[in-house]
Amino acid sequence: MRLLLPLLFLFVPVLANAQQTMDEAYGEKIAEFTTDERFLNDLIDHLPASDTVPSPLDYFGTIIGAEGILHYTEDIYGYLRALADASPRVMVRNIGYSEEDREMIEVIIADEATIADLEPSRVALNRLADPRSLSEDEASDIIASAKPIYYLTAGLHSSETGSPEMVMELAYRLAVEESDYIRSIRDNVITMFTPAAEPDGRDRMVDVHRYSDDHNGQAPNLTYWGKYVAHDNNRDGYGMALNLTRNLLDSFHHWKPQVMHDLHESVPYLYVSTGLGPYNEWIDPITVDEWHNLAYEDVSELTRVGMPGVWTHAFYNGWAANYLIWMANLRNSNGRFYETFGNSHPGTFERKLGKRSTATQWYRPNPPLETVMWSLRNNTNYMQSGVLASLKYTADNAHQFVENFWLKSSRAVEKGRTEAPYAWVIPHESQQDRPVGTTFMVNLLMDMGLEVHQSESALSEGDLEAVAGSYIVRLDQPYRTLAQVMMDRQNFPEGANAPYDDTGWTLPLSHRVDAVRVDSSWILDADMTLLEAHVAPATSGAGRGKWLVLNNTTDDNFALFRYRLSGTQMEAAESEFEAGEDTFHAGSLIFERSDSALETASELGLQVQAFRSKPDVAMHNADPARVGLIHTWTSRPQDAGWWRFAFDEVGIPYTYLSEQDLATTDLSQFDVLILPRTRSDFKTLVHGNSMVGEPTPWEPSEEYPHIGHIDQTDDTRRGMGYGGVTRLQAFVEGGGVFLTSGPSSAIPIDAGLTRRVSIRQTRSLQARGSLVRTQVADSLSPIAYGYPHDGDIPAYFSQSPVFSVNSNVGGYRTPDWQKDLAWETEVPRTVLSFAKSNLNMSGMLQNPGELQGAPAVLDVPVGDGHVILFATRPVRRWNTHGNHALVWNVLLNWNDLRVGWPERKKED
Ligand SMILES: [Zn+2]
Repeated sequence: MRLLLPLLFLFVPVLANAQQTMDEAYGEKIAEFTTDERFLNDLIDHLPASDTVPSPLDYFGTIIGAEGILHYTEDIYGYLRALADASPRVMVRNIGYSEEDREMIEVIIADEATIADLEPSRVALNRLADPRSLSEDEASDIIASAKPIYYLTAGLHSSETGSPEMVMELAYRLAVEESDYIRSIRDNVITMFTPAAEPDGRDRMVDVHRYSDDHNGQAPNLTYWGKYVAHDNNRDGYGMALNLTRNLLDSFHHWKPQVMHDLHESVPYLYVSTGLGPYNEWIDPITVDEWHNLAYEDVSELTRVGMPGVWTHAFYNGWAANYLIWMANLRNSNGRFYETFGNSHPGTFERKLGKRSTATQWYRPNPPLETVMWSLRNNTNYMQSGVLASLKYTADNAHQFVENFWLKSSRAVEKGRTEAPYAWVIPHESQQDRPVGTTFMVNLLMDMGLEVHQSESALSEGDLEAVAGSYIVRLDQPYRTLAQVMMDRQNFPEGANAPYDDTGWTLPLSHRVDAVRVDSSWILDADMTLLEAHVAPATSGAGRGKWLVLNNTTDDNFALFRYRLSGTQMEAAESEFEAGEDTFHAGSLIFERSDSALETASELGLQVQAFRSKPDVAMHNADPARVGLIHTWTSRPQDAGWWRFAFDEVGIPYTYLSEQDLATTDLSQFDVLILPRTRSDFKTLVHGNSMVGEPTPWEPSEEYPHIGHIDQTDDTRRGMGYGGVTRLQAFVEGGGVFLTSGPSSAIPIDAGLTRRVSIRQTRSLQARGSLVRTQVADSLSPIAYGYPHDGDIPAYFSQSPVFSVNSNVGGYRTPDWQKDLAWETEVPRTVLSFAKSNLNMSGMLQNPGELQGAPAVLDVPVGDGHVILFATRPVRRWNTHGNHALVWNVLLNWNDLRVGWPERKKED
């Protein structure tokens, strides 16, 4: 393809080095797979030839973006390692392994001198991250010579297939091309990338695409990406549950890159992140300024060379801080992303776009075309051109990026010394409801990279009463922004548009751990020691006596203790009681002394108390439930993945089964069945997806070894049918417990499994992923064991469902015996309610009236069993630890949920 003449003047530097021999075959193939001249420019329409360094064409026999070609991680790594072997400008480094043990790597590219002596550059940049140990003169010296690190992440979202391909060609180009343009990038920036941030999902996706090619275009959906979650692998910043998050954060801490750039695919043709706001309230304004400068640069450079459909603003807001790129935004660097236009499958397809994508807007003066033949190569061109423009801008402003990084760190420290808040104090675990949860949160904060100190003496001022040994997060540390974003309340602006993601996540609320914000500066002078390693709650001996009591702290480990000793007879107290000098919560476990119990408790950081006689309190057997965790094939089981993660991580055993299995499995092997949120509604669970075409199995085979694992089926399309519904109903009526959460609580209601509960359609409520105030409505319910009777329980709620209960058991002509029977057999018990006032604890909540006072957790009697409906999401993204025990309580008391069932109020 020939370039239009005017374009030649725009990238003059390329011409100045026209003497380098080009790989003509490669260039011809680029033109062949690009569907329109406007999708090309002279940054990426060619590739230089090299005698020593293999190009993708040399290595694979096809160019990047060739029709029908996607590579497995192993092949991508093979090529990149061959590149590193051949070029002194390229290095490959292992950064860890995925849950399924696939390797994760990063590639580092710069001029040969920089690569040969990389460690001093890294150390210098690292020093800028902490201005407390650096004079301004030293900082200036480092800034004058430092090269910024620009870190790209590709292949995080597995169905977005183009970026792991694109970075291979980018790497070759950066290593080999001798144009002034590329040389200026190579000499002034250290470019790094991770080619497959979700390697498990990448390999599955390549299998799915190959399966589709072999089966006339029909294939299973990419049901599983990573071992646990799909799209949410991008939103793990508050819980840091996934290996990829931990590996990439380790890498961030190792290098301290100035820019992180995540490559996504969704909207046409290239959206560059800036967002519409409201921006996160704690973010440094320099970061916002950098977002805009980089975005405008990309938009204007690509628009100048005639590429349509490159735009910024809109699409995302910049509030939620859990995205992978916020790793950088929260740590004085800059995090940004692209959305390019991907086909997912590497074929070429006609794509028709609606007005929403093609209308001219103030933020999109040069919109995408209404109809276009779109290819993987087009996607590659856009992505690579944008990245090159960003790298060039970073190269041209290298000192500014490095200086900004240091400035942000310096300002954070300075602010922490001179303006409130000055610190957060997390009182010692001995003062907390959840002692293990407290140390868990402290450890999480340290894993995020925050400095946490421990006080040498008691701290007291206003609301703060903390014993010696309490934890202090000083805000005069470089990651002040990170500390504030995690610890403080999110004040989502009143009246702002609802975003598509969470708005409130305050860690002390979601973990139900007390933390006190200190707004006066004396705290910085308190005696304290920096914590160097993870902490664990201290436990002491149980004392003498045959009977042991373990307080129900609602810690995860409390439930785990019961499961670890599942063969031991234990009883659960049915109310709060006093023994010796201690008060124990309802649900506390009472059992006979044994060495294994004492050892297990101490291993889990739990304090048991011994008594000579059995405590005098009503109690029942605490039988740990046999749990079935249900996922769906008819829609991606992402929330089920988070639940599975929580069960695995805590250590509670379960069986993983699908909606299809409900129709064929003997359900009497379970006591509790859990259906986490799914996008499938009741209809879809019954009839499945479209049965047109051939069965689409999700199981490994020799041809497609990566499909399957986790769970498998011979046909993902099939639903549970009425057979499944009937068995589920028999399971519950026979004494089983069925638990649902969030929008999926509509399923048992729509299925007619429950009576007297409906879901209210709200008109004006706006609650997007917020932390709201719930309270115990029935303190005798075993589900509320361990929770404060008169305090708040912050809970995650997002928009729906709002339950409505009909507790009318009849009028004056209804005989009392009939009312009693109706009450006992049909009327649900409200365990937790949304607060009647001051509902919002963190995040967005507009027009809360429709939610105030509504049931948050319902226990619906069905035959001999129960359906437990959560309006809230007690297990979500490894960030709702304070609510986990509502579920664990169901598991430990599943056959005693009738305890303390409320009496019907008799009319006068
Ligand atoms: Zn994406």
